[in-house]
Amino acid sequence: MRIHVIECGSMRPFGGRLWDGTTPGIGPAHLACRCLLVETEEGLVLVDTGFGLDDVNRPVPRLSRTFLVADRIHLEADETAISRLRALGFNPRDVRHIVITHLDFDHAGGLTDFPGARVHVSAEEAAAARRRTTPKARGRYRPAQLAHPMREYDAPGEPWFGLPTLRGLDGLPEGIFLVPLPGHTAGHCGVALDTGHGWVLHAGDAVFMHAELDEPPRMPPLASAYANFMQVDRDARLESRDRLRALARDHGEEVTILCTHDPVLPPRVLQPGPGQRILTLG
Ligand SMILES: [Zn+2]
Repeated sequence: MRIHVIECGSMRPFGGRLWDGTTPGIGPAHLACRCLLVETEEGLVLVDTGFGLDDVNRPVPRLSRTFLVADRIHLEADETAISRLRALGFNPRDVRHIVITHLDFDHAGGLTDFPGARVHVSAEEAAAARRRTTPKARGRYRPAQLAHPMREYDAPGEPWFGLPTLRGLDGLPEGIFLVPLPGHTAGHCGVALDTGHGWVLHAGDAVFMHAELDEPPRMPPLASAYANFMQVDRDARLESRDRLRALARDHGEEVTILCTHDPVLPPRVLQPGPGQRILTLG
């Protein structure tokens, strides 16, 4: 299994390091929209999709005006998943599966660029995206982005390092499955990948910054405020974060944890070219 770490769009809200912990000053911060492109024996697998071509071409009404402005969403055709994987020499039609951490606008925008891919999501997240009962839910879950058939999962599988799982993703290798980490959204999950040389966990937005995995957790103030605003269940979010901290503490040698929005990758991830990174483990 070979994993390419790709950034599919970004958000650049004002506040600099108060947002991302690294950008000097209080000008535009850089919040990555980090996805994984995984080469498997069953074909290419995407973990999350960031923003897609339709978001670039028709930001309204694909995206909510409020989030477009507040997050200063940066949309470039060259930064979409479909363009990133073409630049890596792949054919978009070879993307057979997409595994989704959650269905927020900054994770699901590229789904419609891959009409032939099978999409896998937790049943709870799919239900939350259908409900859209509050203004915040209507802003984050965008029907035009989600116009794609999805396979939904809710049967608990064997625990993984003590964490709950949703396994048996239709057509995918056994070493790829969902790890429920709710709180940011109702059905938010991480995606676990068995590389054969250690595990990778794409933790989505269960943490916004990798320093949240430290003891004690650290987080820039605006990222913290945004996480509080976006959460649907604070207790569940903090419990998910505690579980990830325990995983990093007890099994950090076996599991590399990545999150979506931290602009800085953990040190074990190499950086061979702008926008594209190949993860090497072991
Ligand atoms: Zn996000």
